[in-house]
Amino acid sequence: MKFNTKVIHGGQEPDPAYGAVMTPIYQTTTYVQSTPGVHKGYEYSRTQNPTRHALEKAFASLESGNYGLAFGSGLAAIDAVIKLLKPGDEVIATNDLYGGTYRLFTKIYEDFGIKFHFIGMQNVTDIENYINSKTRLIWVETPTNPMMNIIDISAVSLISKRHNILLAVDNTFATPYLQQPLALGADIVMHSATKYLGGHSDVVMGALVVNDKAVADQLYFIQNASGAICGPQDAFLVLRGLKTLHVRMQRHCENGKAIAEYLNNHPKIENVYWPGFKSHPNHEIAKFQMVDFGGMVSFTTKGNNYKEAIRIVENLKIFTLAESLGGVESLAGHPASMTHASIPKEEREKTGIVDSLIRLSVGIEDQQDLINDLKQAIA
Ligand SMILES: *Cc1c(COP(=O)(O)O)cnc(C)c1O
Repeated sequence: MKFNTKVIHGGQEPDPAYGAVMTPIYQTTTYVQSTPGVHKGYEYSRTQNPTRHALEKAFASLESGNYGLAFGSGLAAIDAVIKLLKPGDEVIATNDLYGGTYRLFTKIYEDFGIKFHFIGMQNVTDIENYINSKTRLIWVETPTNPMMNIIDISAVSLISKRHNILLAVDNTFATPYLQQPLALGADIVMHSATKYLGGHSDVVMGALVVNDKAVADQLYFIQNASGAICGPQDAFLVLRGLKTLHVRMQRHCENGKAIAEYLNNHPKIENVYWPGFKSHPNHEIAKFQMVDFGGMVSFTTKGNNYKEAIRIVENLKIFTLAESLGGVESLAGHPASMTHASIPKEEREKTGIVDSLIRLSVGIEDQQDLINDLKQAIA
């Protein structure tokens, strides 16, 4: 089955009870047993629920993996992965990670005796300098947020396999439409399904997909034992969102390209960060591992003025000033005062998050309306 068919049918069968074509919302905690231990595959909804089960099969199908798991948020999914580790274990992670991932690693799991190394991974051979006998996991995010750096997943996977280390990839920005980390050699794919997979800014959810049965069994055990599951109503909403993932992503990519090119030619704009430009330092890798370049675009203005950047985001009328990304509507954010405000100025500037940086999650509205909105806000 090709991707565009999988988004509609992957893991989906008409409901066995009444033949409903769309998976019903099984709003139930428990399931009848005819005699103790004899039931139709479901006992208790933390352990498994038919609506969530359908979604988990859909996640696995879209990432071309064997096993899918759904969680109450993206961070709950990441949390389950870190619970595979033990005190003393070490993790090597991308240095410009999603802020919440960084917070989970440093503020929660460092206290449990897990050590994290945060490094730039554009040059993958640097990773080997941090590998030792305690290294258990490499955590990659690509493209990164908000600088749109690209990390070579296959090259990292050659290193992780050589040292027998798990490789996890946060695939939130790319989605399986653009990039399939398992096929590139990753062991675990993670999503904040809150973003493009749900796609309508109305549900918070996380996902994991893996191929290896032993890893899957451990994760299912953690999912049930720790209990960070999603509810059936949310599972239904994401199942519904997935059915248009391919058409949404196609439009996100078209609009993202048009806006990146518009900004790149604008006299007041200094830098535009979008992996589709030939001048992007990792453009060739992006072209190899992604089908297209996505709908996320960041830019800075000439003169790098903090107040001017704030004025631009305030003046936008169609782009909404808000955190998050990946919904049908266009959003704009100012990392220095919003998502990355807690990082000291000198620290954030090291990774390129300067005062005038603006991040756009380009939605699927009319392209010319979006360009006109940017035009008037920048003027
Ligand atoms: C939003 C996000 C997360 C966290 O997901 P939640 O659903 O908000 O818990 C993790 N990684 C990336 C790249 C994200 O954008």
